[in-house]
Amino acid sequence: MGRFDGRVAVITGAARGIGFGTAKRFAEEGAKVAIVDLDETAASEAAASIGEHAIGVGCDVSNAESVDAAIARVVAELGGIHILVNNAGITRDNLLFKMTELDWDLVMGVHLKGAFLMTKAAQKHFVEQKYGKVVNTSSISALGNRGQANYSAAKMGIQGFTRTLGIELGPFGINVNAIAPGFIATEMTDATAARLKMDVDEFRRLNADANPVKRVGYPEDIAAAVTFLASDEASYITGQTLYVDGGSSLG
Ligand code: NAP
Repeated sequence: MGRFDGRVAVITGAARGIGFGTAKRFAEEGAKVAIVDLDETAASEAAASIGEHAIGVGCDVSNAESVDAAIARVVAELGGIHILVNNAGITRDNLLFKMTELDWDLVMGVHLKGAFLMTKAAQKHFVEQKYGKVVNTSSISALGNRGQANYSAAKMGIQGFTRTLGIELGPFGINVNAIAPGFIATEMTDATAARLKMDVDEFRRLNADANPVKRVGYPEDIAAAVTFLASDEASYITGQTLYVDGGSSLG
C-alpha cells in the first residue's frame, strides 16, 4: 500500500533533475505520474524509464494553450489529477547592468507565469473534487543571490503566490506549499559551474563546504520533502515554504 495509490501526480520540468527524481518517488509510492516537459521525446523517455504508470507530455508551461492541452491530456489518459508539482525552471543569470529584458521575461515566464497557468488549469479539477495538492518550487536564491535578480525575484514571488493560494484554496480541500532547495546537484548547477569556468566536482565541493551539513543536496532530498507536502499526512500544512538546503539559509 503506497501513500499515493489511486492518485495522479503531474510534475513539470520532470524529464531530468529534481523533477525526474520527484516523479520517480511518486511512482514508487503508487501514483500514476505525468512527466511534463518542453521536449515531448525527452518527457516520454523519462516516463518509459519509470514504468507503465507514467506518461510523458510535451508542454511549455509559460504558454496558456499548451498548459490547457497538457492538463486535458493528463485527465483523459490518467483519469484525473490530484497533485501538481510546479518544478520547471530556467536560469538566465547576469549582473543587473548586463541583464537583458529578455533574460528577465524568460525567467518570469517559466517560473511565475508557468506556476500560475498550471495551477489555474489544475484547480478547476481540484475544486470540483474538493481535493488537491500543489507543491511549488522556490529556491534559497529567493533570499538574494548575486547575478540572479530575475531568478531571485521569481523565486520570492513563488512564496507570495503560495501563501495567497493557501488562503484562497484551503476551503476547497486544497493544500498549497512550496519547497526552497539549496544547492542540488543537477544539470542546472553543472551549467552554473560551466558558466563560472569551474570544474563540476570542485564547484560541488565548494557548495558542500558552505553549508552546515557539509554535503550538496540531491534530487532525492527534494523528492522526500515534496512527497511529504503532497501527502495526506501534511493536510494541516498550507501556504508554507520549506527550505531544503542543508542549513544554508541559516546564515
Ligand atoms: P534542470 O535540471 O535544468 O531541469 C529543469 C527542467 O525544466 C528541464 O527538463 C527543462 O527542459 C524544463 N523546462 C524549462 N523550461 C520549461 C518550460 N517552459 N516548460 C516546461 N518545462 C521546462 O533543473 P533542476 O536543477 O532540476 O531544477 C528544478 C527546479 O528546482 C527549478 O525550478 C529550479 O529553479 C529549482 N531549483 C534548483 C536548484 C538546484 O540547485 N538545482 C536550487 C533551487 C531551486 P529543457 O531541458 O528542455 O530546458
